[in-house]
Amino acid sequence: MTRLIFLGPPGAGKGTQSKVLADFLNIPHISTGDILRQAITEQTPLGIKAQSYMDKGELVPDQLVEDLVKERLNQPDTKNGWILDGFPRKVSQASFLEELLAETGQGGERAVNLDAPDQIVITRLLGRGRKDDSEEVIRRRLEVYREETAPLINYYSDRQKLLTVDGNQSPEEVTTALKNVIAA
Ligand code: ADP
Repeated sequence: MTRLIFLGPPGAGKGTQSKVLADFLNIPHISTGDILRQAITEQTPLGIKAQSYMDKGELVPDQLVEDLVKERLNQPDTKNGWILDGFPRKVSQASFLEELLAETGQGGERAVNLDAPDQIVITRLLGRGRKDDSEEVIRRRLEVYREETAPLINYYSDRQKLLTVDGNQSPEEVTTALKNVIAA
């Protein structure tokens, strides 16, 4: 049973690696960013509410992502484990998740900190060309990461749930390192 949370700055490779690992472990990859982008494409009520925040590189309000995560973790395909990519992104969301997992009897989760230096993540994001990958929005996303998300490294390390992997290596090397830390 694997329940994994992916932490790390935007551009560290969370999306790529968490997908590879979810396929390998045959468990669902749950990306709040992907779900929100899909909602924007479909212009659902969630998408319409989230869009202006995402375009600016700000976090969308907790309530929106917490509702979607709660609903997603209640789907039957999560019973053999899951990988969360992009959630939690701040301490309030981590507390929400902790409570949700306790209520639903889904414990034993671990957080992987996929770390990479600023210069590397900026170069990667500029090359990616997603709508929120303009230089200004990237700068804001990195600031939000430092202020809101980076404190989760201590949050999970205090709870002895933190694993760390160096994201500044080739994708194949990162995958190998990830498989090693989760098996250890
Ligand atoms: P990246 O990690 O490359 O920044 P994501 O796809 O994870 O990209 O997130 C893109 C955007 O979606 C974020 O900048 C934010 O606006 C929104 N978002 C995703 N997850 C969350 C979350 N847990 N809480 C608030 N906003 C979120």
